[in-house]
Amino acid sequence: MNIPASLLWETEPVQVPVSGQSKSFPVRRVYCVGRNYVDHIREMKEGNERDAPFFFQKPTDSIVASGATIPYPQLTQDFQFEGELVVAIGEGGASIPSDKAEAHIFGYAVGIDMTRRDRQKEAFASGRPWEIGKSFDHSAPCGEITPIDACPSIGAATLSLSVNGEQRQRTGLGLMIWNVAEIIENLSQHYRLEPGDLIFTGTPAGVGAVSEGDVIRADVTGLSALEVTVA
Ligand code: MN
Repeated sequence: MNIPASLLWETEPVQVPVSGQSKSFPVRRVYCVGRNYVDHIREMKEGNERDAPFFFQKPTDSIVASGATIPYPQLTQDFQFEGELVVAIGEGGASIPSDKAEAHIFGYAVGIDMTRRDRQKEAFASGRPWEIGKSFDHSAPCGEITPIDACPSIGAATLSLSVNGEQRQRTGLGLMIWNVAEIIENLSQHYRLEPGDLIFTGTPAGVGAVSEGDVIRADVTGLSALEVTVA
């Protein structure tokens, strides 16, 4: 029996533009670090500041390009932004030591980990997975990737996020609890990393809710800005 025509669907591979290149970066998986800035752990009043990093995933097709309009999602009254540095993996590997991590990085981008905070908090309180709060359609806006050769020293860069032009988050990336190399070391012990993987590296304090019509802009020094509008 042939597969019914109703089951055949066409989809484009998920890709993220690369600055200065005509080819885009094909996305394999989207990993996210759960808690990575002390000030955000304190504002959320959860977790131990010295816990090892933990990870969750978003669907690959939740990636949204800069300039897009994202629908206000179902099932939430508390749709929040989390501005984050994104690492794009260019070379795979398992159990990568932190001092070898940089060779696996293709480049960096600015991302926003969009979150249904009310659903995430419910899941947290009941000991259930975070999926419904974190891993939904359009939940992973990601800006253009800048290849690592063209990046500034990322640990010295500043991340900021504004809503309708008003600054809401700002941090030095040097304030991450686990830096990029340590994240790669840790994550690659859980999963074999492959080219095309993206890692959202966690958010600092200042997270908050957005409403329909809001424009969210996130910046990291030296990288292309990311801007999305909430429909
Ligand atoms: Mn996050």
